[in-house]
Amino acid sequence: MVVMSPSHSTGPHPDDAVTRPPSPSRVPLEHRELWTKAAVGANTYDFDSGRVTPTIYERTTAAALRHDALNLGQGFTDHEGPQWMLETAAAAITDPRRGPGNQYPPGPGLPVLREAVAEDQRRRWDIDLDPASEVLVTTGATEGITAAILAFAAPGTQVLTFEPHYDSYGAVTAIAGAELVGVPLRGPDFRPDVDALEAAVTERTSLILLNTPHNPTGTVFSTEELRRVVDIAQRHDLRIMCDGVYEQLVFDDAAEPHHPILSVPGADEVAVAIGSAGKSFSLTGWKVGWVMGRAELVNQVLGIKQFLSFCSGPAYQWAVAAGLQDDRGFYAENVAGLQAGRDMLHSGLEAAGLRPNRAEAGYFVVADVRGLTDVGDVEFCRMLVEEVGVAAIPVSSLTVQHRANPQDELQNLVRFAFCKRHETIEAAMDRLAERLPAALDRLA
Ligand code: PMP
Ligand code: GLN
Repeated sequence: MVVMSPSHSTGPHPDDAVTRPPSPSRVPLEHRELWTKAAVGANTYDFDSGRVTPTIYERTTAAALRHDALNLGQGFTDHEGPQWMLETAAAAITDPRRGPGNQYPPGPGLPVLREAVAEDQRRRWDIDLDPASEVLVTTGATEGITAAILAFAAPGTQVLTFEPHYDSYGAVTAIAGAELVGVPLRGPDFRPDVDALEAAVTERTSLILLNTPHNPTGTVFSTEELRRVVDIAQRHDLRIMCDGVYEQLVFDDAAEPHHPILSVPGADEVAVAIGSAGKSFSLTGWKVGWVMGRAELVNQVLGIKQFLSFCSGPAYQWAVAAGLQDDRGFYAENVAGLQAGRDMLHSGLEAAGLRPNRAEAGYFVVADVRGLTDVGDVEFCRMLVEEVGVAAIPVSSLTVQHRANPQDELQNLVRFAFCKRHETIEAAMDRLAERLPAALDRLA
């Protein structure tokens, strides 16, 4: 296993200060320029300086480096993905006879990758996709999410999502000129309240953003929950974008196995699904993703996507196609390691007096800090990185911040990543046990 140096994931950043969350009273959003709206939408606008900050993930990694803390913040693994995939990509770059070469691949993606995605979906979920028209390769899931939101959220409309939510949903919805409306996922189980979702639908709603398995709660939506969301979309003439980047990382004690949105009958009329190689193969920096769905919807997403990046690196696409064709046992080994990491993290956090959930999938658990302190998640994370030497993410950064209530549960949850080597998790838990009580006393 190759272990990376702690500095690998970040270089000097124009602004790596951990900033306070924006204050709600100074947001005349409708009069702001687009860059401000995007930044406000992702909680990356510093109202004091009027500047854009890095994302919460980058700020946390920078703070971890500054304080020499163990980084359970940003969701990247601290070990490499399968060696043979690294070699396949490297060979494709240096020996064009063994791969697609180094010039522009087709904008919608290398045919071999689109075929591998379609075949993978057929094999695992019995979903039938035409690789030529129903699979679109993107630069990471991030670009697919961006293109889908821009394609389907008309200006002036509302976009619904369960929150906490992935940060880019807020930014891109704002860029689209739409408004993100969050429906909270509540602990301790963080199951989606589909009635509350439907109650939030108005005549202005255009799009629902789903994410299953969910970041940061690890919730795997049940077939019934998905079926009901599809039904809402059909009845109210809405589109659905379903982000499934953690679909290969579901644990064996999840209440139900993962169900992709396109496996729900009728979903293809309204939904596109997003996938990514980053999490499936522990290769988060490769940024190879894809959009799947009925040809007409995928074509509409292409209308945006082809002017975002046009295309992305052929060598990575080539190697990901090989991984999808045959993972050589990587998925099973990876999921077992992650599940053991989750258990280790869960017990360590519980022993430290936090109230963690037991994620069903993915990279993260969320822990309620209210049993220990009432300072809120942002201040708790500042203390944790500076005084305990462990970095974690304040979940309020992943909410519709400008409307949030400080007493709300979503202002008191902290996300810890377990996609790290077990030694890293163990060392972080030792630090919590040794240093947290005194740090909390100082906070009081
Ligand atoms: N969606 C979610 C829920 C994520 O956690 C992430 C981070 N991997 C992404 C999208 C972005 O994926 P990618 O790195 O493939 O752009
Ligand atoms: N998906 C990763 C996380 O949730 C972060 C990706 C990013 O830094 N943009 O931590």
